[in-house]
Amino acid sequence: MTLKEALALPKEEVAALREDLKRKIEAKKELNAYIAVDEAGEGVPLLIKDNIQVKGWNVTAASKILQGYVAPYDATVIEKIKTAGLAPFGRANMDEFAMGSSTETSFYGKTLNPHDPERVPGGSSGGSAAAVAAGVAIAALGSDTGGSIRQPAAFCGIVGMKPTYGRVSRWGLGAYSSSLDQIGPMTQNVEDAAILYDIISGHDRRDSTSADMEYTPVAPNLNPDRKLTVAVVDNYIKEADADVQSAYETAIRALEAEGHTIVHKEMMGAKYDIAAYYIVATAEASANLSRYDGVRYGRRAEGAKDLKEMYLKTRSEGFGEEVKRRILLGSFVLSSGYYDAYYLKAQKVRHLIKDEFEKVFEEADLILSPVAPTPAFKFGEMADPLQMYLSDAYTVGVNLAGLPAISLPIKKTAAGLPVGLQLIGRHFDEQTLFDGALSLERAVAYEH
Ligand code: GLN
Repeated sequence: MTLKEALALPKEEVAALREDLKRKIEAKKELNAYIAVDEAGEGVPLLIKDNIQVKGWNVTAASKILQGYVAPYDATVIEKIKTAGLAPFGRANMDEFAMGSSTETSFYGKTLNPHDPERVPGGSSGGSAAAVAAGVAIAALGSDTGGSIRQPAAFCGIVGMKPTYGRVSRWGLGAYSSSLDQIGPMTQNVEDAAILYDIISGHDRRDSTSADMEYTPVAPNLNPDRKLTVAVVDNYIKEADADVQSAYETAIRALEAEGHTIVHKEMMGAKYDIAAYYIVATAEASANLSRYDGVRYGRRAEGAKDLKEMYLKTRSEGFGEEVKRRILLGSFVLSSGYYDAYYLKAQKVRHLIKDEFEKVFEEADLILSPVAPTPAFKFGEMADPLQMYLSDAYTVGVNLAGLPAISLPIKKTAAGLPVGLQLIGRHFDEQTLFDGALSLERAVAYEH
């Protein structure tokens, strides 16, 4: 059942739907997509990534350090979904503090890809994506700092959308990298994504980076018949693997058949994006995560002799290896002596990346790009952290530039793995993004 259908159900049937969902979750428990099946309210069930505050829930960001923490308030997006007749239903598994691309770093164990249990569901919103793909969630909320909605959506064969920075309130989202983070919808199809996006969007005074502008809903105005100009990034495709290239060709042919105009572009190259992103994101993360000290939130280590030892033990025991690596890297790039060489330089590169996108958007309404260089990889395959970081090459630039983008499934590989591609739009032009995505979705007719 789609989100659109579920929202149209009478109240009694919503109750039955919730019971049915619980049975399905139990039957597919081995996926480990849910950290817990908590409930808040009685509306249409919506799966919530475990870094979004839901009042009364033990929200942990899949970290040991937040064991025992109880969220004292609802995030703005949670208030909004409740008003719209939805209810938070379940805490989705994720990479610890949203740091990762595979959901392997969760304190609660890995989530399996429903298409192949030996492969990752992507990350960091891997639980959300796997659950929607396996039919154990109708739709979900994820968060995207450098691809964490779009990449798991692509690996699991669902739709995932990252809004323009400032469009959706971050109030109540566990901060990873505050200048990059956005909450967004993860759904079975493009129309559901538009519906959920409308529900969570709009200005919020409690988030100072929230855009103070009039909000016009996109779902009631969806128009797949508009003729658009779509830029394809040739050099990105040359580097990607054969399955991704094949999906790209399929998508281009489909867009042309729908009457869209294709223009070919080269872009500076994802390698700059990765370097800039992993400096900015870790710098901000090192500051944001300093609040987990054993005093204010969650778990405190036992047996410390004094305050300093308590901090040390709490953070040593509470954070996983990847989170520690990033705190160290972030503290390093911000330290005096290295600040100019790394952090300041990364900020300058960030401007160049933004300018490059703007240049392409002078000619094109949308950009078509890969989401990841390959379909879902195997567990343990990316044991080298740097290799894992490099696989984010096509998604992080969008966050650095603050642009909206949507990942949708295009076709399956011979082995049955989904391959997704993303469309990227202009700032605050989500209408065109969804119109183009709907047109592409119809033209490729992906079989789930
Ligand atoms: N994989 C990227 C990272 O590890 C993106 C994560 C995200 O978007 N939260 O930082």
